[in-house]
Amino acid sequence: MGLKELAAVYSGLDIDSDNTKSLKDTRVALNPLVSMQPHAEKLTATPARRVVPPKPTTLILSFLIFIYLTLHLAHGASLRDLWPLSRSYRASNFTYTGATGPLGWAGLSKANAACSISKLQSPINLDAAVGGAHPRNIIIAFPDFNEGAEIENTGQTLEVHVRGMATTATTHLDGKAYALDRFHFHTPSEHRIEEEYFPMEVHFVHHAVDGTRLVLATLFELTTDNTTTELLTAVTQNISALTAPGTRTRTGALLFEPLAAHFQVGALYRYTGSLTTPPCTDGVTWLVASEPLTLNVPTFLAFKKVMRFNARYTQNTPGQENLLEMAARQLPHRGRIWNWNWNRNMKGGSVLGLP
Ligand SMILES: [Zn+2]
Repeated sequence: MGLKELAAVYSGLDIDSDNTKSLKDTRVALNPLVSMQPHAEKLTATPARRVVPPKPTTLILSFLIFIYLTLHLAHGASLRDLWPLSRSYRASNFTYTGATGPLGWAGLSKANAACSISKLQSPINLDAAVGGAHPRNIIIAFPDFNEGAEIENTGQTLEVHVRGMATTATTHLDGKAYALDRFHFHTPSEHRIEEEYFPMEVHFVHHAVDGTRLVLATLFELTTDNTTTELLTAVTQNISALTAPGTRTRTGALLFEPLAAHFQVGALYRYTGSLTTPPCTDGVTWLVASEPLTLNVPTFLAFKKVMRFNARYTQNTPGQENLLEMAARQLPHRGRIWNWNWNRNMKGGSVLGLP
């Protein structure tokens, strides 16, 4: 088969479903030796089909696609990364342990680069060096959702979806409005307060119309008198239906009044960090309550049983080098490999060769 036929086959031009017949006819038409053979009349009985060469635009488009795929695959992207519909898969394709855990998140996708190079990553240790937010500048307007809301086991957390509900829950900070999209939980806590970690943490994830993000967070502490935060009881009302990743159900009535009071009366830490899960996008405004809310043992056990361990390790102080980048630079064998290659090269050996 010649180049023209190949091009015709791949471009799909003027080739009917009987490819064998068409190609045979083409061969007869193009090769005079075939038509001179004794049985040539059988082959030439059917008039040769005209193969229309691909249009120049088709060839140019194919060439550009070839270059695009070559360049991206050469730089470590997988075909899955290049397929736009796979983004939701990528977003959930991380874990908290092993090669796909926090140390490997940047390697899962080029979109996760911030996890290993950004200098504004979360969570962090919160102490006096971290600035505070004045409660006077914060207005939390969360309506009660008496009908409850949808809750999902995403495989990484338990997440309650409130975006698109009849009334929008909003937090105003310094006069700017942020709409609440969802809230989810982490066991154990991601943030620490003066190096103390807590059994659980909740993140209320907001966005403003300009795309900037704000996360309102509080930690929970176990109680000895069985008191617990009412919102948690509502969230875990149907938790037995959420044991498998991907399952969804409804929460009980969500009443936010005590929570809003907690944020507006107590002291808050405020800093600029990131999402604590891939793609670790930075520039996120964090407001974390300095005092924990209550959590009783049965509620804690119910959360922990479903979510397992889902806390990212503590990041460096905001503005300082990403810990992963720092650690990679300090790996001793990196220097040895470089020296080995250098020595082999100087002796005339191949840099790419193996010993
Ligand atoms: Zn979170």
